[in-house]
Amino acid sequence: MLITDYMKNSRKLSKQEIEQRIKEIFLKKPNPREIKKAKQLAMSKNIKLASFKKMFCKKCLTIFTSTNSKIRIKNKFKIIKCENCGYINKWWMR
Ligand SMILES: [Zn+2]
Repeated sequence: MLITDYMKNSRKLSKQEIEQRIKEIFLKKPNPREIKKAKQLAMSKNIKLASFKKMFCKKCLTIFTSTNSKIRIKNKFKIIKCENCGYINKWWMR
């Protein structure tokens, strides 16, 4: 590895630090802008959002609550309708 590359990498946050930041973002009921930031952080380190992904609308990035979403289970799919933008989020359940 080149010395310059090493210096560039050491200035960046580690994968674990990024994961920690993402967790913190989701713990405090984030707004769409914060969710976007968390997604960007995750992408920059190839981190999978996994369990967090089902907490917000794929389209408008609104965090789901009992009042802004409708959940249905159909054919092993979990279907969450976002009442904010009308988008239907589907997840395969294993
Ligand atoms: Zn939505």
